[in-house]
Amino acid sequence: MSRATFRFYAELNDLLAPWRRGVPFPHDFNGAPAVKDVIESLGVPHTEVDLILADGESVDFSWTLKDGARVSVYPVFEALDIAPLTRVRPEPLRTVRFVLDGHLGRLARRLRMLGFDALWWRDPGDEEIARVAAAEHRIVLTRDSGLLKRRVVTHGYRVREVDPRRQLAEVVRRLDLLRSAAPLSRCLCCNALLETAPKEEVASALPPRVRERHEEFRRCPVCRRVYWPGSHRQRMEQVIASLGRRAGDAFPGARP
Ligand SMILES: [Zn+2]
Repeated sequence: MSRATFRFYAELNDLLAPWRRGVPFPHDFNGAPAVKDVIESLGVPHTEVDLILADGESVDFSWTLKDGARVSVYPVFEALDIAPLTRVRPEPLRTVRFVLDGHLGRLARRLRMLGFDALWWRDPGDEEIARVAAAEHRIVLTRDSGLLKRRVVTHGYRVREVDPRRQLAEVVRRLDLLRSAAPLSRCLCCNALLETAPKEEVASALPPRVRERHEEFRRCPVCRRVYWPGSHRQRMEQVIASLGRRAGDAFPGARP
């Protein structure tokens, strides 16, 4: 039997058994397991991990655990600069795109309100979500850690909050999305990018008050819904403003 010492940082502790949170703890093991498997056996999906240090050296997921090693495990710091250290995963996804599990339909709509490509459909199987994520380079959002443990899922995040509004704030802060938001650019119902629509083409379908007050319209090329910068946009701007105020206190310096 060999023994290594583990310490998990920041929000990774949420995923551990309470007595392992925030402190170094011993872990006994047999043979030479890959560090990835040990981390997952402790309850942390590999998609949550961005950096592993073994005795101060950056190692990747396939590194085999050694007797006496001191292992530090850090979360996905999209918002912090840890570039000088090697990351355990491929490059971050260049375009931020999501696929959400079946329980997160309201979060998907809210992400679309901010202009993000957020794929969601009713009752998807875990396997289908994992396949779409891998094929289309999408970040998986889920409340189920099991889904994130699948090997083909390279980018994923387990949503902690239950309320959809708080979920949006959590995801925007956690993945540092505010700068890339483009409100009113995507259909809330089918995720398609909206097109500019000339007023004369959509006027007949509009309520009279809207027709009188607005000149700019966008239309979904798939479901033909028409959008305009009305009260909907004001509400969205309030949401964005409130996220901006809270973004600053997201992750106070949890650095190696
Ligand atoms: Zn649509």
